[in-house]
Amino acid sequence: MVRDEEPFFVDRWRDVETGNEYVNEYRLIFSFDEGLFVEIVQRSIGGEFSWEVTLDNLDAESLMWLMGSGSLERIRAKVKEIMQRLTENLDSLFFDPIGDRRRSCYVCGSDALHECIRCNKDVCDQHAVFAETEYEEPLTYCHECFWKAVEDDPYQERL
Ligand SMILES: [Zn+2]
Ligand SMILES: [Zn+2]
Repeated sequence: MVRDEEPFFVDRWRDVETGNEYVNEYRLIFSFDEGLFVEIVQRSIGGEFSWEVTLDNLDAESLMWLMGSGSLERIRAKVKEIMQRLTENLDSLFFDPIGDRRRSCYVCGSDALHECIRCNKDVCDQHAVFAETEYEEPLTYCHECFWKAVEDDPYQERL
């Protein structure tokens, strides 16, 4: 939300019956969800409270004050500045969320879903070897490491 600091209209009035004085301050506000609206803050000896009014529900007199106040131009410039900053930062805000996690096979470059347990290189389905073990999960090797493992470990030879 962007709020114009200066009220575009300050309405002072007195309740004839009670004699209480009231001050209503009208401020223009822009919300990225709802667009432009007016916040009215009322102060009296009873305290302070506020409510919001959309521009099409604003009375003719307040609207006239708004038009002559420069408030619209001020808030437009502020919003424009924010939009510009956002646009400039858009690329860094919306970075590729998959990019960091996407892995490619070190042999052929296609999407890699596996990692060799020996050299930790990423490998695709075609370039992975799943060696059966006595445990439930098979061990994943790249081709190169698989053959090295076979040479190193006589038990692997029987696979
Ligand atoms: Zn591959
Ligand atoms: Zn490997």
